[in-house]
Amino acid sequence: MSQPGLDHRGVLFVLSSPSGAGKSTIARMLLREDADIAMSVSVTTRPMRAGEVDGRDYHFIDVPRFKHMVAANELMEWAHVFDHRYGTPKAPVEAMLASGQDVLFDIDWQGAQQLYQQAGGDVVRVFILPPSVAELERRLTKRGTDQPDVIAARMARAAAEISHWDGYEYVLINDDVQLCFAQVLNILNAERLRRSRQTGLIGFTRKLMTAKDR
Ligand code: 5GP
Repeated sequence: MSQPGLDHRGVLFVLSSPSGAGKSTIARMLLREDADIAMSVSVTTRPMRAGEVDGRDYHFIDVPRFKHMVAANELMEWAHVFDHRYGTPKAPVEAMLASGQDVLFDIDWQGAQQLYQQAGGDVVRVFILPPSVAELERRLTKRGTDQPDVIAARMARAAAEISHWDGYEYVLINDDVQLCFAQVLNILNAERLRRSRQTGLIGFTRKLMTAKDR
């Protein structure tokens, strides 16, 4: 958490990985454990998978609606991923930041790059790698929600996604999910304590220095 009672700038916390590296699990753990961060729910034109809930996992919309949102400048970033469009609605992010919450983004490297161009110093980018190709394939198959041709396409895309690892401040190897989660939490908490995010420090230290706080 941030320092209690001290104003701070919110963290825009990006988690990216090839699909199957465990990012969604870690995102869920983070949201469960840490009340000070909330998820940015993306819009997408891809079909809903079994078990997904509209409005929780994504806002599932059609292509004309997506194009309208782009034209109306309602998205902070957007990209084509696996032949579908994905984007981050701007208004909810602004509302979460205004209410003092940090925001978690499960977006790809294109989104991470665009977000960084817009919000630079507020953005913290974390990339999660699978421990091996074999393990990545095993995890994608075990999930059982996609057809074999989709899995093969995702394996092919994984290499392309991984090639962008150097566009991130932090790169983690998710072999043990508990350990990886602990590392993610450490990064988030350390970033919250960066001086540049603790906007309340000026007033706080001024009081300390003028001894008005007795
Ligand atoms: P999936 O279809 O498996 O849910 O997601 C496919 C990929 O799209 C993942 O790498 C995910 O991070 C990415 N993604 C999801 N939402 C967004 C978004 O709003 N913007 C961008 N750029 N990528 C997204």
